[in-house]
Order: sequence, then C-alpha cells, then structure tokens
Amino acid sequence: MRVVIKIGTSTLAHKTGLLNILRVEELCKVMSDLKNAGNEVILVSSGAIGMGVGKLGLFEKPNDIPTKQAAAAVGQCELMYTYDRLFSEYNHTVAQILVTGDDIDHVDRKQNFINTMRRILELSAIPIINENDSVSTNEIEIGDNDTLGAIVATAVSADLLIILSDIEGLYTADPKNNDKAELLHTVEQITPEIENMVGGAGSKLGTGGMITKIKAAKIVTEKGIDMVIANGENPMVLYDIVAGKNIGTRFLGKV
Ligand code: GLU
Repeated sequence: MRVVIKIGTSTLAHKTGLLNILRVEELCKVMSDLKNAGNEVILVSSGAIGMGVGKLGLFEKPNDIPTKQAAAAVGQCELMYTYDRLFSEYNHTVAQILVTGDDIDHVDRKQNFINTMRRILELSAIPIINENDSVSTNEIEIGDNDTLGAIVATAVSADLLIILSDIEGLYTADPKNNDKAELLHTVEQITPEIENMVGGAGSKLGTGGMITKIKAAKIVTEKGIDMVIANGENPMVLYDIVAGKNIGTRFLGKV
C-alpha cells in the first residue's frame, strides 16, 4: 500500500512548541515498521513553525510574516534532524521536499515534484514533505498541510491518506462543547450537511481544523483515494488504519 501520513503540529509538539519526544519516537518506529512490512510511506509533516517557536524561545506563534518565516526556517531543521535520527535507527533514509503553492500550480514544476517523489520511493527512501514556509507568501501559499497532504496523495496516486490530529475524527457536532456529539466512522459522500458540521480552527500552534480536513477529503475522494482522520495520540493506530479497521473517520474514495 502507498500511504501518505500527514502529522499535525498538535501531534508532534507539546503546547510549548517543544518536541513531544515519546510521541515522535513512537511514530517513527511504527512508520518504519509499516515500511518494513512492504508499504510505501510518505510523510507530510507540519511542525516547522511550532518547533521554531519552541527553539527560539518565543512564547506563542508569531503573527508577523518575517518572524513566522524565521521560525519555520529554524523549526524545519529541527524537524528533519529529528526524523533523520529516528528513522536512521531503523535503517531508513529520509528525503526532504519543501514546496510552495506556486510549485504545484506550475505544470513543469509539479511534474518535477512528482518525478522526484517517484524516484525517492523507488530508491526506498521516505519522502518528508512540508510547505516551504520560509519563502511562501499569501499569494502563493498552500496554507495548510491537510491540503498539502491531499495534493501529495493525488500526485503520487496513493491508496490512502491518513491525517493524524488531536481529535478522534469527524463528529456530528463540536465534541468540546456538545456532549451529544457522535463520531462518524464512515463518510461515503461529503454532503452539505457534513460541511456544515465542521467547526473553526484547531490548536494554537497548528493551522488547520476540521474545515481544511474536509477540503482535503474532497480532493482525494474525488480521485478514488480513501482518507482517514484519526487521533495521533497513540501512533499504534496506524497499524489498524492501514489494515482497514474502524479507527477515526474514514472518507471513502469514489469508485
Ligand atoms: N507548514 C506549517 C508548519 O510546518 C504547518 C501548516 C499546517 O499545520 O497545516 O509549521
């Protein structure tokens, strides 16, 4: 199976912006094992800005663009250093690709991106993709990594996109303030009702929220790719998700 796994900042880092060491170690271990079992693993990782915030000792996610871009430049190094070190422990090689919305909109550059991804996979390395936040501007940004995950999954014709977040999946209402909210296990079609269910932004350090996840689900399911939203708190869920078990919310790809 070719699986794209998107990991959000809330899964990778504590609220301080510093690395959630146990979580990331566990994630890399499980992803390495999934790869050893014969799957192709592609990672879309957030966390550059969040980790830059932590490393630079800033107290919160900055609002001004230069500081955000500087934080991303610092945090991206920290991220890749961490992945390189942890995946190396299991004999896996990582490859970093940073893209902007401009690269995706440009036919030749997008094709180059796809060619590079394919070659990295043939060479049996693990592509780790993020938006190139340090050079992106409003006009050319993709803006959130849920969408980037969907772009990557369709570009490489993945079988599955997994979005790991700090929420179990899609609920009928916001579970934080409605105790009648129920988790939807399967979504066959993204109806206007589903779109109306989704609330606003996610955690303080991350970017997305449910809206961007539904947008991502629309992109991939159109291309026949399943997408699962699950809580990344326990990385072991990845085994069950890849095995097709009932975890989180699965959006079924159109056949
Ligand atoms: N590219 C951003 C980062 O690495 C994350 C965007 C997102 O979380 O959606 O911090």
